[in-house]
Amino acid sequence: MNRLSEREGVELLTHGDPIELGRQADAARRELFDDTVTFIVDRNINYTNVCKNECRFCAFFRRQGHKDAYLLTYDEILEKVRETVEAGGTQVMIQGGLYPDLGLGYYEKMLRLIKTNFPSITIHSFTATENPVFCAAGGHLHSGYAEAAAGCGTGQSAGRRCGDPGG
Ligand code: SF4
Repeated sequence: MNRLSEREGVELLTHGDPIELGRQADAARRELFDDTVTFIVDRNINYTNVCKNECRFCAFFRRQGHKDAYLLTYDEILEKVRETVEAGGTQVMIQGGLYPDLGLGYYEKMLRLIKTNFPSITIHSFTATENPVFCAAGGHLHSGYAEAAAGCGTGQSAGRRCGDPGG
């Protein structure tokens, strides 16, 4: 199986037929794994619903100060990870709104606490919407963020912006 070149990827993204793309992906999966299908237990942890983007279609976000607005404490986040591990989970997807002025330190400490307390958990977290905000907060370029996040224990990041359709 050959990996797509960058040019082929851009071509698929801009002009591709999603159904045909799905067929090709399925064919590639069958070539590698036949009919074997696996799954993991993964929990989404939404650490805040406060978001400064205020996308018009979004029913999730709340403005700072709204009665339903929340920002989880580290203890609350760790408790959710603990529940996940006890239920046989191996991965958490941490994702939230763009909380104003939270600072990169909040995220770094969150990730380090999770990895320190639950070394076996995979942190598949944050989105393409959150990442540039972290970069700005830390004064890093995007690639610098990726290295910093990896250093804090982030294994993977979601490829889709949470403001994208279906996100
Ligand atoms: S960036 Fe995401 S969380 Fe924020 S308002 Fe838009 S869709 Fe909602």
